[in-house]
Amino acid sequence: MFDNLTSRLSGVIKTLRGETRLTESNIQDALREIRLALLEADVALPVVKDFIASIKEKAIGHEVMSSLTPGQALVGVVYQELIAIMGGDKSDLNLATVPPAVILMAGLQGAGKTTSSGKLAKWIMEHKKKKVLLVSCDIYRPAAIHQLELLAQQTGADFFPVKDGQKPGEIGAAALDFARRHHHEVMIVDTAGRLGIDEAMMQEISELEALLKPIETLFVVDAMQGQDAVNTAKAFSDALPLTGVILTKLDGDARGGAALSVKHITGKPIKFAGVAEKLTGLEIFHPDRMASRILG
Ligand code: GDP
Repeated sequence: MFDNLTSRLSGVIKTLRGETRLTESNIQDALREIRLALLEADVALPVVKDFIASIKEKAIGHEVMSSLTPGQALVGVVYQELIAIMGGDKSDLNLATVPPAVILMAGLQGAGKTTSSGKLAKWIMEHKKKKVLLVSCDIYRPAAIHQLELLAQQTGADFFPVKDGQKPGEIGAAALDFARRHHHEVMIVDTAGRLGIDEAMMQEISELEALLKPIETLFVVDAMQGQDAVNTAKAFSDALPLTGVILTKLDGDARGGAALSVKHITGKPIKFAGVAEKLTGLEIFHPDRMASRILG
C-alpha cells in the first residue's frame, strides 16, 4: 500500500541534502512526487489538492533542526498531515444512550456490511461487555439474513427473527421492541445494499434512520473501491447523518486511497478497519498507525 509514496519520497529526500530551511523552491520536487504517489494510490483529486496545500503551508519556513536532515523534516510534516487528514486521534464507538443503543449499518452491496455487523457484535461483546442483538433489514436477499443469523451463532450475539413479508420499517420497529423487552444494550441493524446508489435505497435507509434514531450510523466502504468510494461516501453522507466509517478489506491489495479520502469527504472519522474475512478481523482505526504504514 502506498509503496510509491515511500520510494518516491526517498528519491526526493536525497535532493534536499544540505538545505537548512524548507522553502517553496526546494520542496517543489518533493511535492510533485507526493502528488503523483497519492494519485497512483487512488486518492481523490480534491483531497490530493488540499493535502498538498497543507503540506506546503506547514513545510515552508520550517527550520530544520540540527538533529534532522531536511528530508527527514519534510517526511515529518507529511506524517503529521497524513494523521490529520485521517482524522487525528482514534475515534471511539459511542454507545452512551438509553439502551438499546442502535447502530445502523449503511453501504453498497458487497462492501462488507453483513460481515462487519457480525464482527462489530463480537467486538462490542468482548470490549464493551454489552448484550447485543443483530437485526437484518435486507429483505431483498434472504441469503443475507441467513448469513447474519450464522454470524450471530458464531459470535454468541442474539438474532432477531424476521417474519415473511415484513417490511424494513416493520422489522426495525419490532426489533426495537424485542430489544427493549429482552434487555439488549446494543442493537446492530444491517440494511439492504444495492450495487449502485439509487433513490429507493436511500429513501428506505433514511426512513429506518428516522425510526430507529441510531446513536451510530456507520458507513461501510470497501477500501479496494478507490476513487469510487468517494462518490459513494458523498452520496451516503448527503442522505444520512453518518457518525463514522468502517473501512473494510484493508488486508487486500487496496491501494489505500480510500483511507485518505473518506474522512475528508464525509467529515466523519474512520472508526474501524476490516483487516480479514474472519470474525476477529476488525480493529479500531488508528490514523497514526496508518500514517506510519503508508510511509513505510
Ligand atoms: P455486504 O453485501 O455489504 O453485506 O457484504 P458482505 O459482508 O457479504 O461481504 C462481502 C465479501 O467481502 C464477503 O466475501 C466477505 O467475507 C468479504 N469481506 C468483508 N469484510 C472483509 C475484510 O475486512 N477483509 C476481507 N479480506 N474480506 C472481507
